Amino acid sequence: MPRTDSLRNLPAVDEVLRDPRLADAIATLPQSLLVEWIRNSVEECRQSILSGRHLDAEAAVQSVAEGVLSQQRREEGSRQQPVINATGILLHTNLGRSPLADRAVLQMQRAAGYSNVEMDLLSGRRNQRADRVCRLLARLTGAEDAVIVNNCAAATMLVLQTMAAGREVIVSRGQLVEIGGGFRLPEVFASSGAILKEVGTTNRTYLRDYEAAISENTAAIIRVHRSNFFQGGFVTEPDISDLVSLGRERNIPVIDDIGSGCVSDSRAFGLTEPSVQDSVAAGADVTLFSGDKLFGGPQAGIIVGRATFAEQFRRNPMMRALRLDKVTIAAIEATTEIHLSKTAAEELPLWMMLAKDADDIRQTCESVLSRLSIPASLKISVCDSISQVGGGSVPGSEIASCAIRVQTSDADQFSELLRTAKVPVLARISDDAVMIDLRTVADTQLDSLSQTIQHALNSTAGQA
Ligand SMILES: *Cc1c(COP(=O)(O)O)cnc(C)c1O
Repeated sequence: MPRTDSLRNLPAVDEVLRDPRLADAIATLPQSLLVEWIRNSVEECRQSILSGRHLDAEAAVQSVAEGVLSQQRREEGSRQQPVINATGILLHTNLGRSPLADRAVLQMQRAAGYSNVEMDLLSGRRNQRADRVCRLLARLTGAEDAVIVNNCAAATMLVLQTMAAGREVIVSRGQLVEIGGGFRLPEVFASSGAILKEVGTTNRTYLRDYEAAISENTAAIIRVHRSNFFQGGFVTEPDISDLVSLGRERNIPVIDDIGSGCVSDSRAFGLTEPSVQDSVAAGADVTLFSGDKLFGGPQAGIIVGRATFAEQFRRNPMMRALRLDKVTIAAIEATTEIHLSKTAAEELPLWMMLAKDADDIRQTCESVLSRLSIPASLKISVCDSISQVGGGSVPGSEIASCAIRVQTSDADQFSELLRTAKVPVLARISDDAVMIDLRTVADTQLDSLSQTIQHALNSTAGQA
């Protein structure tokens, strides 16, 4: 048949929009998006006819509909949606770091409509945004005051710009870190306008190095926590209290960027991270940390310290660009209240997951396994696993855990099946096997998890 006949079989947009295969897509997607995909798909079909493919009218509609569905799948893959984290990495930056407490989620929902984000209801007057949560954070950490911004990178930027634009900030060469996702300390300095004054060497910096670098152009001393790597061997650096003594003696403020923001006692879980309270108690003038690392809250940068500095940060015009919205403030407030009432172990998902016992996780793995019908071609077992804190905190942390291990001829393909399922499951690949670590899976997710695993098993067995 000549090509022109086949080209005549290409469907009109309206015709495709009536195709029952697209009913779901039509019910859920904006029409303009759908029409664009149909046009793309018709164009692809036209090209394939021009290069010699023959299609009757029915085959043409089918081909266009399939093209639309595949564009929909691509769209779904990039749509932000709930996923099951079975990687065993508690603070997985690509999966949104810390999951929020129920109480925080409820408060976010309550704040989503109109809420008095900048109004004191008793006086009816405008007040400082996040006024109450900042007071709670000060109470929690023992600091005089607090300021909250979009994330810890924003906090660093605001602090450096306010305290040190055009002047020098002394930092150890061993602390010029890259945290990931574009946070490289020297670049943050450059964009804040503060001048980086490096002292010491990669592995050894002494208090006298800081002392020798002080000049009339010194605005501050900063200590940056090496969040995502560790140094061992021939290393030395002064601790925060030494820096504070020097700062007091020379009248220079000390900034402590501790990153992970541990306010509960992480030692109970065998982890050692600098705590916010320790930093404040040691006398740091300004302490910075992330809201969504060990603090267990939403993405935010929390600054605590002396009231005079907090006031300067608030007055910095940049604050207007970095300020948080009402929904995030609500989540920080709820999370702070949980820490204050010392119920983190019962309320914060992060701390609940950290506290799980490896034997209990093993039992959960066995119970999920017993629900699956396993094709003869696949080997599945329950085995030891190692969970990690992740998210640029507690580098090298190894927490004994347990996982469902799926041995297939193609681990990448199996993990893709899990990832692209209706309820996506993110697993880890280790020694060519897929590891589904249940430390980071909530009990309420176990049914969906089993269904997704079963679906992947069936698809794999179908192909074998
Ligand atoms: C994680 C981290 C940051 C960046 O925090 P974000 O909240 O991700 O912006 C900055 N400094 C240190 C020491 C960190 O660990």
